[in-house]
Amino acid sequence: MKEIILVKNGELVLKGLNRSSFEDVLIKNMRRHLEDLGEFKFTKSQSTIMVEAPEGADLDEVAERLGKVFGIAAYSRAAVCEKDMQSIVKTAREYLADELSLVSTFKVEAKRSDKKFPLKSPEICRELGGALLKKFNHLKVDVHNPDVTVTVEIRDTHAFVRGNNIKGAGGMPTGTSGRAAVLISGGIDSPVAAYMMAKRGIELVAVHFASPPYTSELALIKVMDLLKKVSAYCGTITTYVVPFTEIQEAIRDYCPEEYFTLVMRRIMMKISNIIAENQNCRALITGESLGQVASQTIYALQCTDSVAKFPVFRPCIGMDKDEIISVSRKIDTFETSIQPYEDCCTVFTPKHPRTRPKPQDVEAAESKIANLDEMIDAAVKGAKRRFIKAAGV
Ligand code: ATP
Ligand code: MG
Repeated sequence: MKEIILVKNGELVLKGLNRSSFEDVLIKNMRRHLEDLGEFKFTKSQSTIMVEAPEGADLDEVAERLGKVFGIAAYSRAAVCEKDMQSIVKTAREYLADELSLVSTFKVEAKRSDKKFPLKSPEICRELGGALLKKFNHLKVDVHNPDVTVTVEIRDTHAFVRGNNIKGAGGMPTGTSGRAAVLISGGIDSPVAAYMMAKRGIELVAVHFASPPYTSELALIKVMDLLKKVSAYCGTITTYVVPFTEIQEAIRDYCPEEYFTLVMRRIMMKISNIIAENQNCRALITGESLGQVASQTIYALQCTDSVAKFPVFRPCIGMDKDEIISVSRKIDTFETSIQPYEDCCTVFTPKHPRTRPKPQDVEAAESKIANLDEMIDAAVKGAKRRFIKAAGV
C-alpha cells in the first residue's frame, strides 16, 4: 500500500502574502532533515504539504525526523488509494486496522477538494463509517470526542485515508527569523534557551567559553553533545569555542572578588558581540532566569546588558527551574546537562557575590584589567570554529 506524509504548517497560515516563502523555507528544512534517506518529493496544497518518500524508505524514521522540524504544527501518515468508495473502504479497513482495534470510539471526516467526486462529504462519512462499524464491531461512533478521527481526503488524482494527526514541533521554520548567537554552557538552562529561540525560527550560532586546564576536554565534549541534541531540531549550528583561561586568570588576579562573575559575564558579552557581528547575527541568547543566582538578579542583568550591542533574548527568564527541566527532558538534553563537569563559571566563583551591584562599581572592577581590549581581541582570534550537527540535519 502506498503511503505519504501530510504536513500541516500551522502558524504559517498567519503570514499572508509571505506564506509561500515561509513554506519554501519549511520544505528546504524538511529536505535537509531527510537528506540521507533519499530523494523526497514535496507538493504544496492549501495549508498542507504532501511528502512523498522514495521507494523503500523507512517511514517510521521519516516521521520521527519530521517530528523535530520547526514550523510543522501537525502531521500524519496517510494511505493513498483510488478515488472510489470501494477502494476507500478497503484501504481504511486495512490501513487503520491496528489503530482502530486499540480504541473504542471514532468518527469519520471527509474533505472533498475534488468537487466532481460523486458522493458529498456527509455521504462519504456515512458510507465509510458504516463499513468500519461492520468490520470492527467493538467500535462506537462519537462525533464530539472520538479516540480516532478517520479522515478521507478526495484530491485531484487520488484519495488519502488517515487516522489521527501527530502533533508536530510547532514554531516557525528555522531561518525565517534571522540569526542569533547563543551563549552556551554545559548547564541545563542554555540548551533550553537555544531550543526555545530556534523554535521561533532563529538560526543559531553558538559561543562557548572554555578555560582549560580549569575546564576539561570532557566538559567541552559535553557542550558539543548538547548542541548536537539541539541541532536535531534546527540544523547545523556553527559553534565558536573561545579560549577564556587568560581572561579568567586576569579577572582573578586584578578584580575584587565580589565582582568576579559579573565582570566575567560582561566580558563574555563583549566577545559574543564581536562574534555575533561577524556572523551576521541580530541578537544574543542566554539561559538566564531571573533571580536564579546572584548574577541573574535584575541589578546584575542590567550590568551585563549595558555592554550588549544586540537585544539579549532570555527565554528562560520567567521560568522556574522545574519548568526549564521539563523542557530539557522533552528535548533530551537533561541527562547530558547533569553530567558533573565543571564550567568556566564554576571556577574562581566568589564566596559573597554582589546581588545588587552598581554599574559604576562593576565597570571600575573591570577597568582593573589593564589590557582587556587586547585580551578580548586575542580570544576572538583564538576561537575555534566547529560545525555541530546531529544525524539527518
Ligand atoms: P546554564 O544551565 O545555562 O549553565 P546556569 O544556571 O548554570 O545556566 P550560569 O552558569 O550563571 O547559569 O550562566 C548563565 C548563562 O551564561 C548561561 O545560561 C549561558 O547562556 C551563559 N554561560 C555560562 N557559562 C558559559 C560558557 N562557559 N560559555 C558560554 N556561555 C556561558
Ligand atoms: Mg552554567
